Amino acid sequence: MGHRGGSQEKDLVDLLCDRASLIMHAIVIECRLLAPYIPHAPRTDARFEGSSDMDAKRSASEGFKRGLRRRCPNCGEGALFQGYLKVQSTCEACGHDNGTYRADDGPAYLTIVLVGHLVVAPLLCFPFIWQAPLAFVLPFTLSLVTAATLALLPVVKGAFIGVQWSARATATQ
Ligand SMILES: [Zn+2]
Repeated sequence: MGHRGGSQEKDLVDLLCDRASLIMHAIVIECRLLAPYIPHAPRTDARFEGSSDMDAKRSASEGFKRGLRRRCPNCGEGALFQGYLKVQSTCEACGHDNGTYRADDGPAYLTIVLVGHLVVAPLLCFPFIWQAPLAFVLPFTLSLVTAATLALLPVVKGAFIGVQWSARATATQ
């Protein structure tokens, strides 16, 4: 079947298809892992107009936004954390028990995904990464990645807890 040139082309196409399907699989796996945490639009449409205002109040996007600001997801006023990452178990503004939300290593995982896509991958587009001396590239990239990680972690953890807060209302009423 076919001559040498054709089979070389076929090999290249096979290789590219393999790479593409590998990347697609990675994206699908990421989406599956993230799906439960992605906020849905608040239920404000007509179908839910008759339901209790508890549902309307606890929208995922509201919890997400309050969490992003590192505020209590229940009131949006009290500070969610005492210090850098420790959750304040009782909100000082509304008394809500924020200690019940278990973030575990979800925020760390999400932060790695975000830093990898927003910092590490774009960095690889700049040729100086390969051309500049290692003594410069290593401290530069490491401090950039560290700074981005430390800046994102509390924000991601806040948003994570905010979405949990909204899910709790629909799951256990
Ligand atoms: Zn509160």
